[in-house]
Amino acid sequence: MRISIARLALGLLLLVAGCDRGRPVAAPPSPAPHPDRLTQVNVINALMLGGYDGVMSLGELLRHGDLGLGTLDGLDGELIVLDGRAYQARGDGAVVAVPPNRTTPFATVIPFRPDGEVPLAGLAGLAGLAALDARLDAAIGRANHFVALRADVALAVVTVRSVPRQDRPYRPLAQVAQAQRTWTHRDVRGTLVGTRGPSWSAGLNVPGYHWHFLSDDRRVGGHVLDLRLTAGRVRYDVAERWEVRFPGAPGFDALDLARDQRADLHRVESGRAGEAPPAAPPPR
Ligand SMILES: [Zn+2]
Repeated sequence: MRISIARLALGLLLLVAGCDRGRPVAAPPSPAPHPDRLTQVNVINALMLGGYDGVMSLGELLRHGDLGLGTLDGLDGELIVLDGRAYQARGDGAVVAVPPNRTTPFATVIPFRPDGEVPLAGLAGLAGLAALDARLDAAIGRANHFVALRADVALAVVTVRSVPRQDRPYRPLAQVAQAQRTWTHRDVRGTLVGTRGPSWSAGLNVPGYHWHFLSDDRRVGGHVLDLRLTAGRVRYDVAERWEVRFPGAPGFDALDLARDQRADLHRVESGRAGEAPPAAPPPR
């Protein structure tokens, strides 16, 4: 009996050792994120100036929240985080799942726990995104807070854009966005993932509403330029806390982040980057 117990113990030991061989060391369990903390990677003015190198892996980003938006390393398209999964609307319009080892130079996520809901019945048929934003402002208030939004909608029309992946040396976003591609889709169902930054966050995040879209069939997505609603509902989460992850790369400290880039940002976000003042003509 004693021998068989010893053999059993030895067998278990070998089994455990065998199982461990070749396996990556498991990361210690990370603490659950604070339920009302908005986590932001980088500041928007750094992205505007061409800070496109990844700062945080998608694997880590998803530990900070299950809903959000942003872009990928190299400004490689539009990022949509929905129900804890990350999707990329590429510069060619294709939508693909993002592996956890990809990184993001700019993103905003939250563990989405709705504080309220805005019925869309009265919003259906409203012309344009600006009307939706104005209605949400009136319903939500809380002007000096960051708000995360999720709108599950049927859309009569949605126009989305994406941007092509960039190579070094990176050009400012206002220039890159002039090469954006846009697509207009009709009669599509999906989810609008949004953030609303307070006006005081200019230079840090996007003041006002910033919407990305992902269709229910996961085939259509991107940064929303305009839409017309048919039906749906908007849920929102007012963030109590706000945390920023700064880039560790030395280039970050060389950027002039105090420069007022609000006009350029507005053109980039609203899809009117092509209306930016023309760049200096090339030397002859
Ligand atoms: Zn966007």
